[in-house]
Amino acid sequence: MTGCLTEAQLERLVRGPVPRVRGWLWRRHLRGCPHCRARYDELAEDRRLVAEIRAALRPPGSESRRPSDG
Ligand SMILES: [Zn+2]
Repeated sequence: MTGCLTEAQLERLVRGPVPRVRGWLWRRHLRGCPHCRARYDELAEDRRLVAEIRAALRPPGSESRRPSDG
């Protein structure tokens, strides 16, 4: 192992976008490192909760959705 990912690197993986080669290397490290994997899961969960709370607090109708934006 070349060393564990930093908090900033993990955050970038959760938030994206990540440069392709780096992202590949980081994800490969995650697969082999339960320690980083746990931290990554924690960050991802935090982010999901924040998004849910924001969605709940947002007044209805303020969201501008584009149809079939993909
Ligand atoms: Zn690690």
